[in-house]
Amino acid sequence: MGIAAIILLGAPGAGKGTIAAAIAAATDYAHFSTGDMLREAVKQGTELGRAAEACMQQGSLVPDDVIVKMVINHLCQGPADCHYMFDGFPRTLAQAELLDSHFKSIQAVLSSVFLLEVTREVVLDRLTGRRVCRKCGAIFHIRNLPPKQSGVCDVCGGELVQRPDDKQETIINRLDVFQRQTENLIAYYDRQGILARVDSSRQKNEIVADILAMLTKIFSGKVSRVSGAS
Ligand code: AMP
Repeated sequence: MGIAAIILLGAPGAGKGTIAAAIAAATDYAHFSTGDMLREAVKQGTELGRAAEACMQQGSLVPDDVIVKMVINHLCQGPADCHYMFDGFPRTLAQAELLDSHFKSIQAVLSSVFLLEVTREVVLDRLTGRRVCRKCGAIFHIRNLPPKQSGVCDVCGGELVQRPDDKQETIINRLDVFQRQTENLIAYYDRQGILARVDSSRQKNEIVADILAMLTKIFSGKVSRVSGAS
């Protein structure tokens, strides 16, 4: 089988993390989030974390060489047979080209890129209200998905906090960065004929069902486990 991957592409707040978690639960795709990896590195105080922290706090991108090295290291250490779902990677054309050349060298396949499309207003509302569990990473929203007890994670009882880069000024910078850097990337995958646009302003269940249905169609049953597609 070898390595195969799909990509979830979208602005900050488009719902990549939430949608990826639901797709991972319904399929055999392993969720691969560069943002989560970097946050973990910052938490652990590793060399990578120290290199990435300032960029993350400003809402800027971590340099391409740092990201690609981190991704390739993880892929090399992982199983030889795996379906990956990249979330937040690639973010620039340079990252996409480096991923392509790595995939070529290991005969891996990039089958689809799902672009989660959402308006700026929806993003601002989602991100300023987002709260994340400090302990297990579960995601909540103060209005749309409130925890049973304010400030406390329903899953593990951990403390719910706002991500440092979810403050309004930083969000605006992250959105501008996304627009600038990712336009080329969208065109790049569109030209390859593997880009699928998904309206991500809808309810989570509808978005997930759409993506699962597209995956089922693309692979016509070749993916070993895709359940829940309508
Ligand atoms: P995310 O959780 O995907 O929104 O990522 C949080 C932050 O991590 C971003 O604002 C960037 O600073 C950094 N980051 C995550 N993935 C990448 C990437 N592929 N390239 C550059 N920076 C990244």
